[in-house]
Amino acid sequence: MTTKKLAARKTAAPLHPNATAHALAVPPSERRLRLGEGLAYAPAPETTPVKIDATYGLFLDGAFTKPGKTFATLNPATERELARVTAATAKDVDRAVQAARRALPAWSALPGAERGKYLFRIARLIQEHARELAVLETMDGGKTIKESRDIDLPLVAAHFFYYAGWADKLPYAFPGRTPHPVGVCGQIIPWNFPLLMAAWKLAPALAAGNTVVLKPAETTPLTALHLARILQQAELPPGVVNIVTGAGETGAALVNHSGVDKIAFTGSTDVGKRIAATLAGTGKKLTLELGGKAANIVFDDAPLDQAVEGIIAGIYFNQGHVCCAGSRLLVQENIHDEIVRRLRDRIATLRVGDPLDKNTDIGAINSRPQLEKIRELVASGQAEGAQLHQPAGRLPQTGYWFAPSFFTGVTASHRIAREEIFGPVLSILTFRTPEEALERANHTPYGLSAGVWTDKGSKIFKLAAKLRAGVIWANTYNKFDPTSPFGGYKESGFGREGGLHGLLPYVTLR
Ligand code: NAP
Ligand code: MG
Repeated sequence: MTTKKLAARKTAAPLHPNATAHALAVPPSERRLRLGEGLAYAPAPETTPVKIDATYGLFLDGAFTKPGKTFATLNPATERELARVTAATAKDVDRAVQAARRALPAWSALPGAERGKYLFRIARLIQEHARELAVLETMDGGKTIKESRDIDLPLVAAHFFYYAGWADKLPYAFPGRTPHPVGVCGQIIPWNFPLLMAAWKLAPALAAGNTVVLKPAETTPLTALHLARILQQAELPPGVVNIVTGAGETGAALVNHSGVDKIAFTGSTDVGKRIAATLAGTGKKLTLELGGKAANIVFDDAPLDQAVEGIIAGIYFNQGHVCCAGSRLLVQENIHDEIVRRLRDRIATLRVGDPLDKNTDIGAINSRPQLEKIRELVASGQAEGAQLHQPAGRLPQTGYWFAPSFFTGVTASHRIAREEIFGPVLSILTFRTPEEALERANHTPYGLSAGVWTDKGSKIFKLAAKLRAGVIWANTYNKFDPTSPFGGYKESGFGREGGLHGLLPYVTLR
């Protein structure tokens, strides 16, 4: 079949009404950067139906409330409204906290094996609904279906499975100590991995016998609300998980509520600092997973083909909306030109466009404010004298887009070398010796992650021991596993999520 016929056939494939409206809202001519006829792919839109309600209430005490005052959540690829979601007031947050408080005694008293059964059930239901949740995640947040389907959703289910396994083994997790649940946990999550962050927060909290009030981000509330339906199907007792949608004020109301025993926050360092100041002296437990400006260090003895793929995965994964993105590339000086040449070739092959298309590599920027922030920082890089590299081509007219980009000629004092851009923009710096690489890598107020590319194991160990970063990848990047703890140093926050360490913030040990 000719490519033309195949394209016609795929476009004509029946889609669910919602999926149709949104998948086709990006006109085919605008679906990707025009990078030359040779690279044109036939459209391959994801066709799994997803039912999105017009309006959502809050999930309180096991049931959805009537919608209150609502706000819109958009599809950032089309700028169209997907649904209206309730903005939880301080009073709503209070109802949620009270529901969690009422549910706490029975839930925490359940034998661990029984709590584990609920978590296993939730994990299996997530797997059953994985494809529709992936489509919903892509529509609400702009990430590519390739990533939400193959990375986010499998990891969400894996996280619940992993902590389900711990629920009846808590005494073994902390030998010689007796773990008790902390109590009612307020959990606040960002928009870059909406459902995955919900899983990172909920699974260990529930396994350890806590109850929860979860606040999703304003721009991506839908998958958490659909997860609430899965919790209902799993017959999780009412009040064990409550979901309050809303903006920053809803999060602040949760932080300020006197009935909350612990706050777990993932988001920006600015908001994290404010939360830490608010909670100081209250006795509430706190964990913060904040921003990053990771160094991805490439030595001249690294396998360059793999390193280039690692650099691409490090910065362009999820449009660069990744706290642990390898956004500062430190390249050994003698291979700088070679790496730049390879990167320039490689980013020209990345397809930007309709996130629901299975061939898309880079989806939509999550929101207009985020796009403005990226543009402002990129403009600062140019004004400060760095050179911007982008592939030729044009971006879709509607929606929020930013081409995969990198800067050369960056110095350590440039804003693009110091501040988190949280977009598909890489800053390239150079170094000569391992000592200089280390010094430059650690020269940041952040400390979430780092990457090291070299053929020499000894170099990896030497650097890993001295890099002030919570996660260090060697000859790979952006790999996640529920068994592996994740978290930061310095202004990237404190506390760990994932692994045995991820249980610790949700228990008090006696
Ligand atoms: P953000 O503005 O700090 O928001 C995070 C969450 O906090 C959202 O739910 C937000 O609600 C809420 N919020 C805003 N103001 C608040 C307040 N005063 N009190 C309580 N809650 C409040 O961050 P973002 O822009 O959504 O996310 C991007 C940041 O998250 C980046 O810096 C990134 O590095 C970081 N991040 C870190 C990790 C990690 O594990 N370390 C993972 C992912 C992201 P609204 O959505 O309504 O504003
Ligand atoms: Mg949205």
